[in-house]
Amino acid sequence: MPPAYKPMTAVQSFDVAILGAGLAGRLSAWLLVRAGARVALVERGGPDGSGSAAHVAAAMLAPLAESAIAERRIVDLGIASVDLWRTWIQELPEPVFFQEDGTLVVWHTRDRSEVSLFTGRMRAVAPPELVQARLRALDGNGVGQIEPALAGRFPQGLLLQGEGQLDNRGAMRALLSCAIEEGLHCVWEAGEIDADALPALGIKAGVVLDCRGLGARAAWTDAAGPQGQALPGLRGLRGEVARVHAPDVKLHRPVRLLHPRYPIYIAPKPNDLYVIGATEIESEDDSPMSVRSALELLSAAHSLHPAFGEARVLELNVQRRPTRPDHLPAIRVDQQSRVVRVNGLYRHGWLIAPAVTEAACHVVRAMLDGDPAAHAVPAALRWPGMIAPVHEPASNVLTGAGGTLH
Ligand SMILES: Cc1cc2nc3c(=O)[nH]c(=O)nc-3n(C[C@H](O)[C@H](O)[C@H](O)COP(=O)(O)OP(=O)(O)OC[C@H]3O[C@@H](n4cnc5c(N)ncnc54)[C@H](O)[C@@H]3O)c2cc1C
Repeated sequence: MPPAYKPMTAVQSFDVAILGAGLAGRLSAWLLVRAGARVALVERGGPDGSGSAAHVAAAMLAPLAESAIAERRIVDLGIASVDLWRTWIQELPEPVFFQEDGTLVVWHTRDRSEVSLFTGRMRAVAPPELVQARLRALDGNGVGQIEPALAGRFPQGLLLQGEGQLDNRGAMRALLSCAIEEGLHCVWEAGEIDADALPALGIKAGVVLDCRGLGARAAWTDAAGPQGQALPGLRGLRGEVARVHAPDVKLHRPVRLLHPRYPIYIAPKPNDLYVIGATEIESEDDSPMSVRSALELLSAAHSLHPAFGEARVLELNVQRRPTRPDHLPAIRVDQQSRVVRVNGLYRHGWLIAPAVTEAACHVVRAMLDGDPAAHAVPAALRWPGMIAPVHEPASNVLTGAGGTLH
């Protein structure tokens, strides 16, 4: 099927063209225009971001909770990123809900064997000083003190102090409007594009920054399998979440319910909204939520607090998390084609995107400054292995229109 973009006659030159206005695309656009770059942001959908994983996410910023299932790299990127969020959110012109009041972990008594698995994995992965500083065991009174809505419902719990959360949709709106105010040029409804399509859109760029998430799959196909065969370098993991309005519940922080089959989280958003998630299914299927998943998520929420029974279901969302074979983020730098690709944010995008996109933007700026080894910015030393030089097929070679940033 031909792409949906319409050819334009007038050509505009930019330092950077960013493909994809999801999480990485918007953050990068905001960072680069503030650094003085002329930036075009090109997105297949509209400005509301509804085609992105970022739009449906719970946006928990939980390095310690995630350490129960992730690698140490994610914890370290997460800690660095939460520091950046704290500063960046203050710099946005409109208020964005952001809190660091911790994550509450609870479980039903019959599932208590899950607790040692959860804490054991956390202790194996997270730095001991982080566990020491943040992990606090609670009795039933303690659970009720920090979340009065759960008083008397759980005899024990864990508080992971200092973990954060933000309003993803508010942050996406604020990043975009601030970047537009600073001169960002946006092209919406561009269809399924890649770097080659930019000239037809009237865009000439010094560097292309590819932030298309799963939409960039074709550019990440080179991982070698056990027999040397090509394997997908990027795949989607289906995630389903419900968004409900529950004014009678009153939770203040994300709550995770440990369960052997249906571990869920409930993340409060402004105005009594809650995101209940999330399934994680090894599938590229992006069809609507299954009845089974809806039952699992909503029943688990109801078992956490019966007032969820009267909540109103606003959305049942499905998106696929873009993930690499090692579940780690990656930045690929093709100096010759002048393309930088950021991907693999997986289930931790909101947690780790600030550190990852900041590193990618440093590479872009080094490239614009004419650095012949732009992949070797200091961030490459800080996060070994995350930034890699590559050489891609010639179809992606751009006609350079590079500039210098200050
Ligand atoms: C259910 C769910 C819950 C989550 N919860 C959390 C959480 O609590 N905490 C956390 O840290 N992370 C969470 N995440 C992960 C996070 O949302 C992702 O890691 C992150 O959004 C990935 O960012 P991205 O910019 O790479 O991709 P996306 O946010 O998906 O953005 C990609 C953008 O590129 C556009 N695009 C794609 N292809 C093309 C094309 N060919 N041409 C033009 N544009 C294109 C898309 O329309 C989209 O706007 C969750 C994800 C899901 C699915």
